[in-house]
Amino acid sequence: MTGYDDGHRYDVAVIGSGIVGLFISYTLAKMEGNRLKILCIDKECSVALHASSRNSGVIHSGIHAKPGTLKARLCVNGNRMMYTILDRLSIPYRRCGMLIVCTDDSMGALEELQRRGYANGVGAMRLLHSDEIRRIERYVKADTGLLVESAGVTDPKALAYRLYEYSRASGVEFMLKSTVVDIGEVVDGYRIEIVERDTDPMEHDVKRRVTAGIVINSAGIHADDIAKMLGLKYTIYPCIGEYYIIRNKPYIVNSLVYPTPTFDYRGIGVHLTKRLDGTIAVGPNAIYIDEKDEDGDKVKGKVNKSIDEFYNKASEIVEGINREDLEYGYYGIRARLAGYGSRDEPDFVIEEYPTKFIHLIGIESPGFTASPAIAEYVVNMIRDRL
Ligand SMILES: Cc1cc2nc3c(=O)[nH]c(=O)nc-3n(C[C@H](O)[C@H](O)[C@H](O)COP(=O)(O)OP(=O)(O)OC[C@H]3O[C@@H](n4cnc5c(N)ncnc54)[C@H](O)[C@@H]3O)c2cc1C
Repeated sequence: MTGYDDGHRYDVAVIGSGIVGLFISYTLAKMEGNRLKILCIDKECSVALHASSRNSGVIHSGIHAKPGTLKARLCVNGNRMMYTILDRLSIPYRRCGMLIVCTDDSMGALEELQRRGYANGVGAMRLLHSDEIRRIERYVKADTGLLVESAGVTDPKALAYRLYEYSRASGVEFMLKSTVVDIGEVVDGYRIEIVERDTDPMEHDVKRRVTAGIVINSAGIHADDIAKMLGLKYTIYPCIGEYYIIRNKPYIVNSLVYPTPTFDYRGIGVHLTKRLDGTIAVGPNAIYIDEKDEDGDKVKGKVNKSIDEFYNKASEIVEGINREDLEYGYYGIRARLAGYGSRDEPDFVIEEYPTKFIHLIGIESPGFTASPAIAEYVVNMIRDRL
């Protein structure tokens, strides 16, 4: 590595160009792009290569979240904001609704969901019986279902890229292939040490140093590592979520079909998502690991091992599929704030520490849906200091 390229001063530096960092950059650029110098730093060569493009692409209603939490509030607000932004940016979506199905033994859980739905203000919900379910989802096996109208599906990668293009055009500087390795306080803000990776193996990596008045930590599964640089002790427990794909039977579901949740923080259940391209994703499962590198050996050793689990779970919800209809799809890693066996679901953490340094930690599902509302929340925290 060479010596420091000592450098530039920014008003705001955003660490991480996942959907959360991108929405924060976009919101700042729209509001104050002409006046502020904004930098968005990411260790990868492109934006949104991690959780933000490896998810179900579901625009959640907010019905699953515990009332009174940030997750509930930011998901419900994010859902409404998301459709407006998708229209504005011409990103395709389907507001197809979510059908949460149950058998007689899970009726209590469905009632709890409905209660949460009212408390969270998710809008229109309808309880359906088996004949009504069959009319809209012919292959779904269920006695009862709850249809939540505000849920939908979109293409998260297309949205992320559009936010990137818009932010860049509005003056946000992106520093890609650049890993934040250390942070220190200076008189008027923070000094951020960055290593810029050179893709040519014959060339050296470059060390850079920038300063910023305000810093946002939206580093996904690495947000705890960034927080530790400031003395904050959070631990993120990485948890893989895998998907299989059904390509040959696009008629099996028309929308988003979910099981009734167990409310024990195992996830909201392996579900079927009719994607924008017509294929159906089945997943995600939940496997805790002690590695954060998506392409690392430990992760690769754990994935694509459980087709039976996916086939069995999907067959509990729909009829008419065979094991051979499922082919391996993809996986993402959740940034969870509680480990294996934990029963309580932690809330999103959005914390300022020290002053003018905002950390976003544990932004797992429904973080994609919530991202425009998270950005608004963060910008409101710093607005009077910009
Ligand atoms: C399997 C799965 C399914 C999901 N399904 C849904 C869904 O259907 N609907 C929904 O609403 N939500 C869903 N989510 C949640 C959603 O995807 C996440 O909440 C959201 O993508 C989090 O975005 P982020 O920007 O915080 O993190 P990320 O997308 O992980 O971005 C963080 C960025 O920080 C960068 N970074 C990290 N460390 C450093 C460093 N030291 N220096 C520089 N850059 C760094 C990374 O390279 C990365 O680009 C799902 C998540 C998973 C994993």
